[in-house]
Amino acid sequence: MKQKYPFKVNWCEICDQGWVEIVRYSGNNNLFVKCRECDSKWDTPLDSNDVNKASLPLDRPIKRPTIQEVKERGWDKYIQIF
Ligand SMILES: [Zn+2]
Repeated sequence: MKQKYPFKVNWCEICDQGWVEIVRYSGNNNLFVKCRECDSKWDTPLDSNDVNKASLPLDRPIKRPTIQEVKERGWDKYIQIF
């Protein structure tokens, strides 16, 4: 079954309204994580446990990475499945 948020790693502690998901900028392979609702950004899934490490993303197109990209970075272990 296709999940609506296949790469969610955390519930957002800042807005308490959305999932933090693994994303990337278009045209750049660097992954980071971002809240779907409030756009708070963290450099890594672990950082998203700390609200003091949040920032805002650059004003650039953001897309969802492929599962291969997530696995290459070793972040698939952070994905929450339930
Ligand atoms: Zn949020």
